[in-house]
Amino acid sequence: MLLTILGGCGAWPGAGQACSGYLVEHDGFRLLVDPGYATVPRLLERITADQVDAVFISHGHPDHCADLNPLLRARALRDDPAVPLPVYSLPSALDAVLALDRPGMLTDAYVLHEFNAGDRLAIGPFRAQTRLLPHSVPNAGIRLTAGERVLTYTGDTGPSSDVVDLARGADLLLAEATFVDRVPQDSRRHLSSARQAGRQAKEADARHLLLTHLQPGTDATAARAAAGAEYDGEIGIATSGLTIDLS
Ligand SMILES: [Zn+2]
Repeated sequence: MLLTILGGCGAWPGAGQACSGYLVEHDGFRLLVDPGYATVPRLLERITADQVDAVFISHGHPDHCADLNPLLRARALRDDPAVPLPVYSLPSALDAVLALDRPGMLTDAYVLHEFNAGDRLAIGPFRAQTRLLPHSVPNAGIRLTAGERVLTYTGDTGPSSDVVDLARGADLLLAEATFVDRVPQDSRRHLSSARQAGRQAKEADARHLLLTHLQPGTDATAARAAAGAEYDGEIGIATSGLTIDLS
C-alpha cells in the first residue's frame, strides 16, 4: 500500500500548500481520500484525472471535499469523458459541493455510494471499516486494509476511544492534529491536538503516526514534539509530496 500526501493543511491552504488530500494505491488501484482545497493540482502533477479509480470522503467540510468539483470537471469536460467515478460519502455530506455546477452538468461523471458510519465497504482491493467519530458535522473515520497492511485515517475528530479502536495495530495512523497541545474550549469535542494524536497512537499500538490537518502557521516541530511526548514510534508530518510505502 502506497500513500502519497497531496496536502495536509487544516481549515485553509497555506501559500503553495493544499488541504487534506491523500492518494492511496494498491495493486494499481488509486483511491483518493478527501479531495480538499487545492489538492487536484497536486494530484494532476502525478496522474491524470481519469486515473483515479474511487474517492472516499470523510465529511462534508470544504477543506476535505471542495476539489471534488474540479476533479469531476477534469473527467467530464473533454471529448472522451472518463467513466463515472465511484464516490463514497456519508448521506448528504456532498450535497453542497455537488450543487456547485448547473444541474445535470456533472451527473454522469460520478456514481455516489452513500454509506452509514459503521458500514464495511469494499473499494477495489481495499477493505474499509468506517466509524462515526465526533466532529461538528458527521465524520467517518476509516480503517483501510489491503495486502495485510492497515492505514487508519481519522478525518476530523475530537478525542475518542473509537479512534483507538479504528487504529488498533495499524501500520500507520494518519491523524488530524489541528493544534499542538492546547485545543480551544469551543473545539475540544470536535478537533484534536498533536499530543492527543500521540496518546491515541500509543493506546492503539499503531506502528507509525503521521500528523495532518495542522492549521497553517502551526510549528510542525512543536507538533511532532508534543506527539512524541506521548508516543514512542516514528512520527511524521503530512506535507505535500510525501510518499510512504507501507509494504
Ligand atoms: Zn472538518
